[in-house]
Amino acid sequence: MRSELLALRAGHVFDGVNVRQSGMVLVEDGVIRDVDFTGAAPPEHAAVTDFGPDGWLLPGLIDAHVHLCWDGTKDAVEHVASDDREAVLETARVSAATTLATGVTTVRDLGDRDYLTLALREQVPPTERPDIVAAGPPVTTHGGHCHFLGGEAEGAEQLCAAVRERAERGCDVVKVMASGGMMTPGSNSLHQQYDRSDLRLIADEAHRLGLTVAAHAHAVPTIANVIDAGFDSIEHFSFLTAEGVGLRQDLVDEVVRRGTFISVTVGIMPGKTPSAPAAAAHFGALADVVAKVIASGARVVPGTDAGISPGKPHGVYPHALTQLAELGMANRDVLRCATSEAAKAVGRGGRKGVLLPHADADILALGSSPVDDISAVTDISAVYRAGHRVR
Ligand SMILES: [Zn+2]
Repeated sequence: MRSELLALRAGHVFDGVNVRQSGMVLVEDGVIRDVDFTGAAPPEHAAVTDFGPDGWLLPGLIDAHVHLCWDGTKDAVEHVASDDREAVLETARVSAATTLATGVTTVRDLGDRDYLTLALREQVPPTERPDIVAAGPPVTTHGGHCHFLGGEAEGAEQLCAAVRERAERGCDVVKVMASGGMMTPGSNSLHQQYDRSDLRLIADEAHRLGLTVAAHAHAVPTIANVIDAGFDSIEHFSFLTAEGVGLRQDLVDEVVRRGTFISVTVGIMPGKTPSAPAAAAHFGALADVVAKVIASGARVVPGTDAGISPGKPHGVYPHALTQLAELGMANRDVLRCATSEAAKAVGRGGRKGVLLPHADADILALGSSPVDDISAVTDISAVYRAGHRVR
């Protein structure tokens, strides 16, 4: 039996790249069947929802970097490390529902525990969560950054086995803690966890198995190594040095040349400061790096790191988009980065982040123009996930 044909109409449509007027999006079986801008009448048998002349339709938004298993409290590390499996899975379920309600219909989870996002993807219906691009536990050194998530591996044999395990379990991406990080007691962000040959081995093995590879990289030499190793996306890209923050323009130029995706860590709840001392101490300088990376023309996509702290709870995503606009990105480019570009970055290009025939029917309806004011992404009239209205 065919499912119901939906006709969604609005005065304005952002299709992932362009703004069009007087649009109609036809949805059936969870997929976009057609998109029309001729003002044609809806098919006779369609169920019509008209969002009016001021209404906007756009693709569901995409967060390139979240942690669904982390609960966004000040004790998030302790909870994800110590809670039992069922409790962490429940945290992930709640995180996913909260995220979907904000119009984020696809997330890339770059660090779960015990592959629990894969369990979530299997057990929770698509209409109750975003689509999840999953990394499983990040690959890290023994006792290294986020070792408590269960992804410790060192040396060629272990590293190749770690990549293969992720492929076999059904992960989409391999996340590598290439440098130390801020959330792990005893870890130093300036410390290089893997050398260039290790990183190249991981990237090559992931690509051979059809997975993408994302690197957590704060330290400057680490950033240089992951670019050289051919990583598909670089997380944070913060250029931390012993003295503070030191952007290397030659490395920015190189990612522009290669088309490497830069998942910039943006979005914090109003009135909150980063809980990691290094991030708090260099808050202004880190924002300055993002502004320069944007101005250089790199393929920037928003990654909130949602879940890691009270400043970054699940649902923080709209603040990431307002921050990108504040850092100099035009609103239309913010929307593109949050949809069609982010879809490419997370390996879902063409299926997500666009309102085009054959794309998944993950759709956001807004009551006002996000091109005029990016904060309109919170003026939500409806959220559709896989063709079902979920808000
Ligand atoms: Zn993260």
